[in-house]
Amino acid sequence: MSGNGACNGTKNGVSNGSAYYRSNPYQPVPDFLSNVDKFKIIESTLREGEQFANAYFDTETKIKIAKALDEFGVDYIELTSPAASEQSRRDCEAICKLGLKAKILTHIRCDMRDAKLAVETGVDGLDVVIGTSSFLREHSHGKDMAYIEKTAIEVIEYIKSKGLEVRFSSEDSFRSDLVDLLSLYKAVDKVGVHRVGIADTVGCATPRQVYDLVRTLRGVVSCDIETHFHNDTGCAVANAYCALEAGATHIDTSVLGIGERNGITPLGGLMARMVVTAPEYVKSKYKLHKLKEIEDMVAEAVQINVPFNNPITGFCAFTHKAGIHAKAILNNPSTYEILDPADFGLTRYVHFASRLTGWNAVKTRVKQLGLSMTDDQVKECTAKIKALADIRPIAIDDADSIIRSFHISLQPQPHRPSEPVPTDEVIPAEEEPEPAA
Ligand SMILES: [Zn+2]
Repeated sequence: MSGNGACNGTKNGVSNGSAYYRSNPYQPVPDFLSNVDKFKIIESTLREGEQFANAYFDTETKIKIAKALDEFGVDYIELTSPAASEQSRRDCEAICKLGLKAKILTHIRCDMRDAKLAVETGVDGLDVVIGTSSFLREHSHGKDMAYIEKTAIEVIEYIKSKGLEVRFSSEDSFRSDLVDLLSLYKAVDKVGVHRVGIADTVGCATPRQVYDLVRTLRGVVSCDIETHFHNDTGCAVANAYCALEAGATHIDTSVLGIGERNGITPLGGLMARMVVTAPEYVKSKYKLHKLKEIEDMVAEAVQINVPFNNPITGFCAFTHKAGIHAKAILNNPSTYEILDPADFGLTRYVHFASRLTGWNAVKTRVKQLGLSMTDDQVKECTAKIKALADIRPIAIDDADSIIRSFHISLQPQPHRPSEPVPTDEVIPAEEEPEPAA
């Protein structure tokens, strides 16, 4: 009963809004907390991504990736802690000196020694992290919550005294005690931390759990909320989206999602999700046509292929195959596409070399080949393509030669097949090869 009432209220209560949402079926559920059209990206290919099994970034590669991400328009670039190694520290300094538009962050343990080392590198901000789950407290650093809170406040105050931005994050947040977490975040918010972070370090969270936790936290702190989602169960993009709906302000990503184990929310996957939800914001802020170039660069650097089912840049992301799909796509791409390949500098491909093809797809190919046929002729030609494709897989070249020879067969022939062909006219004499010197 009350459900119906609420539904009617939304429909009739806000007439402009309801018309807007009716005409834009991809729009998010309206919510005053939602940041789906004003989020920021913390790009962590050079931190989380360095934890990917195959990753080894030399200084030159790090600089290339940092510059590409900056051009793409990410808000922050997060780097490996300078405490990790001497080379990591030098690389951090080198990237800070590039003068990029993106703010440079480094990711450190909640430890004064790490903080002191990091502030000397020239970064714009520090992402401080500590494990708060019982697993990490018992098996990793062995500290209790009182110690964690005291150290966190000391480190945050020190970083702030240096005029730098500071984020405080728990690790494995979804397996931490909620009361512990909220009181810790409240304490660091009180001393003026810029962001608190929620991290699904083990990739266990569901979108609904994310929504609930972020929304609860939104009611407890006044600072920004950053979120970090691992992709162990394939929920990393969905979780990032739900976090934004619940009021998170920053999302951590990496190119192709590379990171510890099978990684985190991928930059491209998040862009695909968000450009559908908030096209004006995403298209005006991020240079989407650079996405493929960045993904190819990182894929090469870590020696992997871009997966076939990658959003946007998977090789078949804009390929339409079935006859019914092809026909509709050729009439109006929106029928089967919510993403426009042109937004990413890519093109769609209507597959016509298969047994599932339809005559509309073949008709388009006939035109592309500069040939002309009536619709009935195209249909006859399509039947020939399907007949061959029923016997074996066919390539574009196979389908093209069927089209071409069918087209030739339609032309008035100089010689009827019944007429004898004079042999001296069709077999040209072969030229003698030049004798070798
Ligand atoms: Zn992580």
